[in-house]
Amino acid sequence: MRQWCAEDHTPLMLVEGHGCTLRDQFGNEYLDGNASIWTNAHGHNHPAINAAITAQLGKVAHTSFLGFTHEPAIRLAKELVDLVPGGRLTRAFFTDNGSTAIESAVRMALQFWKQNGRPQRDTLVAFDRAYHGDTLGAASLGGIPLFKGSGNDFGYRVVTVSSVEELAALDADPIAAVIIEPLIQGAAGMRLWPKGMLKALDAWRQAHDVFLILDEVMTGFGRTGRMFACEHEDVVPDFLCLAKGLTGGYLPLAVTLTSERVFEGFLGEPHEGRTFFYGHSYAGSQLGCAAALASLRVFREDRVLEQLPAKITRLGELMASLPGFRQCGMIAAMTVDSPDLTVGAKICLAARKHGLLTRPIGNTLVLMPPLCVTLNEIERMVAALRAALAEVSAAP
Ligand SMILES: *Cc1c(COP(=O)(O)O)cnc(C)c1O
Repeated sequence: MRQWCAEDHTPLMLVEGHGCTLRDQFGNEYLDGNASIWTNAHGHNHPAINAAITAQLGKVAHTSFLGFTHEPAIRLAKELVDLVPGGRLTRAFFTDNGSTAIESAVRMALQFWKQNGRPQRDTLVAFDRAYHGDTLGAASLGGIPLFKGSGNDFGYRVVTVSSVEELAALDADPIAAVIIEPLIQGAAGMRLWPKGMLKALDAWRQAHDVFLILDEVMTGFGRTGRMFACEHEDVVPDFLCLAKGLTGGYLPLAVTLTSERVFEGFLGEPHEGRTFFYGHSYAGSQLGCAAALASLRVFREDRVLEQLPAKITRLGELMASLPGFRQCGMIAAMTVDSPDLTVGAKICLAARKHGLLTRPIGNTLVLMPPLCVTLNEIERMVAALRAALAEVSAAP
């Protein structure tokens, strides 16, 4: 905050957006190069999503989801269940952000085994350099020291592995669940898993009847070129955690999808104590559900996924010669090899003058535009990034 509050620092205030463009308090325009921290799908100020939110606002903005339900949530749950492949994820549990989507999956997994015959299963396996959110529970699964929470006292253990081989060397008996960001670790700096890794992980956990939790908070809703990253390797998890792109990037809403088996593991009489005691005040908000339904409609009506391959190809072609380039669908990244760990931030700052907003991860630069980005906008984004790179490299 010292730098932020410094006399000579003028915070950038974003006051307006349209499509992939954002405008600041001075009227300068920027392309939204990281989809407003990986959330935006169809662009800002989309008429269909705006209209859906406004229409819902005319009815009611929010009602409690504790002991009540409402039509937007019912319809959204049904659409999501029909959308995810495999037919096994039939139940939806709403929260309001990615971290709590993870927390609820983890708590369901632990409680399921406790009350369904395997109480020794108190261990969660997570991957080295994983990022699953910032609440203390989600952070306890993280493998990035910067974001890692302190030790926990909830009676579960976390074991970190770096590969399926390392996982397979563990005793499976105490493992309740294994959690992973499929295909690509986001906050780790856009780190790709080897092809087939997810499939191998799925084979291991099936052999040992261990739950698989997929954190698709970043990868869900078209980001990897398919609706969900797990589709690339034909894997169906026990828990699918979705948030960022769920509402098209408009409102906080998250969902943890799970199976009939897990659902049934919580059924019982009140005195049996099998209830899942977990809920957030704004879980399944009516406005959020209305936005999510509108976003899914845009996916269908505008055939959004069908238009991605050309954009993915263009993004890759334009960035391929940059150092450390890698790509997973609409996520492209490069890394500057420099001992100066502020160089990423400097490049992002320089990119602003060329009309591009994005946020570095250390010395990794990311382009992850809204899915509605045009080929021309992709070209302008990469040109701005290259210009900023050249400027910062030329600086003493
Ligand atoms: C952003 C993110 C989260 C956390 O979501 P929040 O809504 O910020 O709490 C969890 N996992 C992944 C992979 C993410 O990218």
